[in-house]
Amino acid sequence: MLNPEEIKKIENSHESGVYGKIDIVLVRGEGARLWDADGKMYVDCMGGHGVANVGHANPAVARAVAEQAQQLITCHSALYNEQRALLMQKLAEIAPPGLDRFFFCNSGAEAVEGALKFARPATGRTKIIATMRGFHGRTFGALSATWNKEYREPFEPLVPDFAFVPYNKLERMEQAVDDETAAVIIEVVQGEGGVNPGDGDYLRGVQALCRERGALLIVDEVQTGFGRTGKMFACEHYDLRPDIMTVAKAIAGGLPMGAILIGPRLGEIPQRVHNNTFGANPLCCAAAVAAIDFMLENDLPQRAAEMGARMMDGFKAIESPLIREVRGLGLMVAIELKQPSASYLAQLAEKGVLALNAGSTVMRFLPPLVIGADDVDTVVEKVAEVLPSL
Ligand SMILES: *Cc1c(COP(=O)(O)O)cnc(C)c1O
Repeated sequence: MLNPEEIKKIENSHESGVYGKIDIVLVRGEGARLWDADGKMYVDCMGGHGVANVGHANPAVARAVAEQAQQLITCHSALYNEQRALLMQKLAEIAPPGLDRFFFCNSGAEAVEGALKFARPATGRTKIIATMRGFHGRTFGALSATWNKEYREPFEPLVPDFAFVPYNKLERMEQAVDDETAAVIIEVVQGEGGVNPGDGDYLRGVQALCRERGALLIVDEVQTGFGRTGKMFACEHYDLRPDIMTVAKAIAGGLPMGAILIGPRLGEIPQRVHNNTFGANPLCCAAAVAAIDFMLENDLPQRAAEMGARMMDGFKAIESPLIREVRGLGLMVAIELKQPSASYLAQLAEKGVLALNAGSTVMRFLPPLVIGADDVDTVVEKVAEVLPSL
């Protein structure tokens, strides 16, 4: 057994260097709680960066994984498998209407890559419109649709024919989308970009514009999907019918999986235009089936709506001159400060609450959707303690 100091030393010597590390060695999780190597307990509002919607070490997911691992772990999509069939059936039931064909991969960025690729031959056009503060991943195609200059500039030139417009400003989208536009890619609530909820009229307007001008609407639900915002998919808040939807993060209860959900406007997709070795392996499919069943059986979207409201109300009641705004949807909650959030996040971790940033001044909370009311209250209490009062 390695002790915590040995673990940190080894990781620090061999890590690529791209991750700013937090000084905690995690050992175990259960529901919305985590324990470190010293036995200290944390209420987890990082949620594996938005992955752990069904809770850490979810017993139903653990059982499905253990059983499937002994049956069959790998099975390329060129062959058939029951777990994949079950997952497809389930996704078709819960997805927005029309999204009933799927391409499976292993991450959010990969799902976005595939979505962007599919949009070009389907329309015979090349231009992609993305939004300022949008985030879609860090591989070349996904990065080309990602706004943050820090992420993009060191790697330019990126994929050509991408343009950015301000979020929530329909007239700017109207100016940008034309008869050369293959697709618009957008989040319903911008996640990494600071937890910025989209306006319903805006999002419906973007959809209408895409239909009118022959462009496809790609909705990136990698972070907002699977109950996070208080509906199974954030699209449901505004009755959106995307042509393509990308999902990942929470889909498989913590196992790596991404998926592209494909609607009728893409027509027939030619064989061999895209491919994936690990995608839709029976192990991840079995985990996803168990995770989605758990979400449905326990009505996690409704739970996220209730616990999210409780958390936001709690945050709004905190009287601190440091708070600029509290905003969010369901259990995707942010406090924007008037100062950098890093030192306050560190103090929170010290007090047993883990939370994320989203840009330098935002504290972002993405707890497992199974979080209890008592833990939500603890989070609010600890945040109130670390933010200076009036
Ligand atoms: C996290 C995220 C991605 C990238 O997913 P990875 O699995 O990290 O590649 C893409 N889009 C959105 C909206 C995300 O939140």
